[in-house]
Amino acid sequence: MPAPKATKILERLRKLYPEARCGLDYGSPFELLIATILSAQCTDKRVNLVTPALFRRANRPEEILQLGEKGLVSFIKTCGLYQAKAKNILATCKQLVREHGGRVPASLEALTRLPGVGRKTANVVLSNAFDTPAIAVDTHVFRVSRRLGLAHGKNPHQVELELQRAIPQKDWSEAHHLLIAHGRGLCSARSPQCEACPLKTTCLYFQSESRKGSLG
Ligand code: SF4
Repeated sequence: MPAPKATKILERLRKLYPEARCGLDYGSPFELLIATILSAQCTDKRVNLVTPALFRRANRPEEILQLGEKGLVSFIKTCGLYQAKAKNILATCKQLVREHGGRVPASLEALTRLPGVGRKTANVVLSNAFDTPAIAVDTHVFRVSRRLGLAHGKNPHQVELELQRAIPQKDWSEAHHLLIAHGRGLCSARSPQCEACPLKTTCLYFQSESRKGSLG
């Protein structure tokens, strides 16, 4: 059953980040899939600089395969881990053509069978491109939800399942964007701005740090 605490937290985050949305630019499920694979260990801003030229040239699996590894790398080489990503993207495109008629499947199971596509990437694609309720747990969602006490799991999958229980299903995708916005805003990894945060009265991390006296 959804927790009242989660509902209150989402209400406050909505006020704080009314513009929270997917930070990646895309025009189709396939473009979002490729952009999300590229966004691992890389900022959305960097990915958005790289993908327009790539997608102008190739925005279907068959077209990416025609580019080959060298051609693909020439577009994505400013993204971190570009060599591994190029290999995964090409393998994913092959599988899309072979098993899905060149289309992106709309199920978690089929998406996570694609090379280089884990639950986080699959959930981003499901929620943004297919309007399927999903909570993608990236580093921000993991950190912020644990600090707030919405989840306690030790890995992203555990946290995802806890968030699914705590948050009404209709709000899952929005919650993902709001928690990311808070992680990029006030609740940064190294120096969270707790004094300015409207969630501090309900935040476990703030309460624990206050008890220790480390927040002044
Ligand atoms: S009080 Fe601090 S740790 Fe808690 S959510 Fe706000 S910024 Fe993050």
